[in-house]
Amino acid sequence: MPGLGIRIAPPAEMQPLASIKPLENAQCWRSPYDGDGSQPIVSVFLNHAAYIRVSVHSCSSDTVEVGGVLVGDWCVDEASDEEFVVVKHALPARHTRQGSVYLTFTQDSLVDMHEQIETRFEGEKIVGWYHTHPRMGIFLSHYDTWLHKNFFPEPWQVALVVEPHASLGGFFIRQPDGDLDPTRYYGFYEVDGASGSSIVRWQNLEQFKDGSEGGSSHE
Ligand SMILES: [Zn+2]
Repeated sequence: MPGLGIRIAPPAEMQPLASIKPLENAQCWRSPYDGDGSQPIVSVFLNHAAYIRVSVHSCSSDTVEVGGVLVGDWCVDEASDEEFVVVKHALPARHTRQGSVYLTFTQDSLVDMHEQIETRFEGEKIVGWYHTHPRMGIFLSHYDTWLHKNFFPEPWQVALVVEPHASLGGFFIRQPDGDLDPTRYYGFYEVDGASGSSIVRWQNLEQFKDGSEGGSSHE
């Protein structure tokens, strides 16, 4: 289409990657809100590299908020048709404006992160973002909700909030109708966390073993 000048092209393909949930290598961590009848649109698989990066960055300050983006794949499970995201990397934002009670992404930080993804993690997507709430608890503020809606508008993009002081964490995930409850966070699957080698330290999540805790077994 000549003559249109600079245009921002729509993303080439916005289809989830057909895949299989990596459940056999994963441990399930549940929040008090998991299993309450709500229906998060995706489940989250978080690998160790990303968890460590987020944790280290989160502990870098317990007075101001820090954050960044979560990078990985958006997938659909070939067996169940359920969607999930695999968080493979966390990229700390370098040009954020930080205050004790808010964090925002500047245009520079977003351009920088897109460049890093293109060069280091080709083909992967920004599956969400994370930020800290030092001594504040796990929720999304009005501003966080605004930021999520405007910077991470895809239904499957998630928001991770970490409280580094008390060691808490949780994912905010939209419902099928697009609704996002700012008080209700979910757990995740720890990839590489099988056979007792968990590194997750968040105190507000409980390890869930299918079939051993009064749940229904599918054996
Ligand atoms: Zn916040």
